[in-house]
Amino acid sequence: MQRERVSENVYWFQSEVYAQVTAGVITGPQWAVVVDTLATPDETLAMRSFVEEELAVPVRYVINTHYHADHSWGNCFFPGATVIAHAICRDIMLEKGSSSLESARKQNPVFKQVKLVLPHLVFRDGELSLKVGKKNLIMLHTPGHSRDGISILVEEDRVLFAGDAFMPLPYIVDGDADVLTTTIKKIGKMGLENIVQGHGDIILRGEIEDAVKENLAYLTAVRKAVRVAARRRNPMDALAMIDIESCGKSRVFLGGLAAELHRRNVRFLYKQVLNEPAEVPSDKEEV
Ligand SMILES: [Zn+2]
Repeated sequence: MQRERVSENVYWFQSEVYAQVTAGVITGPQWAVVVDTLATPDETLAMRSFVEEELAVPVRYVINTHYHADHSWGNCFFPGATVIAHAICRDIMLEKGSSSLESARKQNPVFKQVKLVLPHLVFRDGELSLKVGKKNLIMLHTPGHSRDGISILVEEDRVLFAGDAFMPLPYIVDGDADVLTTTIKKIGKMGLENIVQGHGDIILRGEIEDAVKENLAYLTAVRKAVRVAARRRNPMDALAMIDIESCGKSRVFLGGLAAELHRRNVRFLYKQVLNEPAEVPSDKEEV
């Protein structure tokens, strides 16, 4: 697991085992807030040790940017904390959480340590704010990667923990490309110092404008390419030809996972063009 200080009392963590997934810690003098919980119990516990031993404070709140396993299944390792999320996050975890966890346990015994902990405190409309020491955290709904997505703005530092609303490759198979486009545009107008992406590296102020343009251009390009391919005599062949580079992104992103995520985006968009109901994403399709 990698760790970096983003600004005073704000820290960033990145998984070395799964899809470069990230998490954050914002600390005050008495207690800390964790944003997302990484991919495996080992990494979650390493992050907790850093907070308890190096920062020497307990974790009082855990915020889940969305319900996907790599962001919320570490909730159980903060037994004294209040978990905060969007109301839709709790709804989905209640509906699908236990069966997802059960099948994950069959594939990987490491998840035997995991217990599902649903958000205790949720908001459905507007924003929620939480004061940690001198910093004000503002939670806002940023859907599109998933319906329940939220981002957390560290107001004083203009640092945004964007969850998977911002990734090196926009990923929409559990969401909606139009909704994600609106969210990315909104993030682009926030006047940020840093974007902490749900996966990948931190985006610095000077890189934000290009990153926003590039993600919007990808969503436009991939949708257009799928519409064109769908009209061809052999649409499946035409779909297979839509490579990630032709949509302005690189297959090396996310440790090489990007090409596979792109292929799933293409398949998802094609089903939408055909007006077929999208298949319910399996656990593997959560990123
Ligand atoms: Zn994710």
